[in-house]
Amino acid sequence: MSKPCIVCGSTSHAPFSQGLIQCRECDFVFADLNLSHAELSEIYRRNYFFGEEYSNYIADRNVLQKNFKLRLQELKKYLDPSRHKRLLEIGCAYGFFLLLARDYFEKVQGIDITEDGVRYCTEELGLDVIRSDLLEVDLGDQKFDVVCFWDTIEHLSNPHLYLQKISGHMESGALLAITTGDIGSLNARFKKNNWRLLHPPTHLQYFSRRTIQILLDRNRFDVISNRYCGFYRSLDNVFYNLFILRSKIPWLYDLVRKTGLGKLSFYLNLYDIIYVIARKR
Ligand SMILES: [Zn+2]
Repeated sequence: MSKPCIVCGSTSHAPFSQGLIQCRECDFVFADLNLSHAELSEIYRRNYFFGEEYSNYIADRNVLQKNFKLRLQELKKYLDPSRHKRLLEIGCAYGFFLLLARDYFEKVQGIDITEDGVRYCTEELGLDVIRSDLLEVDLGDQKFDVVCFWDTIEHLSNPHLYLQKISGHMESGALLAITTGDIGSLNARFKKNNWRLLHPPTHLQYFSRRTIQILLDRNRFDVISNRYCGFYRSLDNVFYNLFILRSKIPWLYDLVRKTGLGKLSFYLNLYDIIYVIARKR
């Protein structure tokens, strides 16, 4: 039997593209894969951050933090400092967001499955981060006032179970912040198979502004902001995508990297990344 849609429960699907399927009821798009924890850990080993998905994640810290600053600025519009004191980031990677967030919260914590990233968070940055899958960790009676999933939900095998679990550790009024690609955006529809965010098996779930809202509603969250967000990108990242991932001309990548141009960054909004803020009912 087909896997039920995590958004609406329907088992009626149609092929989408590249091993993806689309729910006939709600249009949610997802990969027809069931990856184990071990398989996911293997995908997110050190090479994912250094040489596969990213050329060098730590070297890109300035640009990554520019992006996290934008997200924090937006989130701050909805924060009540007397109410929102404890933050949890799910999928915190190398901790660059938590590092910024700790100036605004009494307590910031993170969780990630990346061994190298978690070691960097704890040993280099002194952050309170654990290496685990949220579904496997015992959170006891801990409560969180703000929970963030930055570009993470699309990577999870069972995002609905994450939302269900974390919802139980958030009191009424707590905030949830999520960024993810929008498969229903004009850019995604125009680019089709060439949309840059279409890549299973790292991206397994493809939400739209509507499907994320339905899933959040089912987990007792009211969406209070649902908008497109832009991002900074380093030229190094652009050259890496162009000369290593796409055209495989490493000498050209080395050449432009030697010019130092890679350190420059620019802001881009393609109106295909959604930034959702929701409040626990
Ligand atoms: Zn559905």
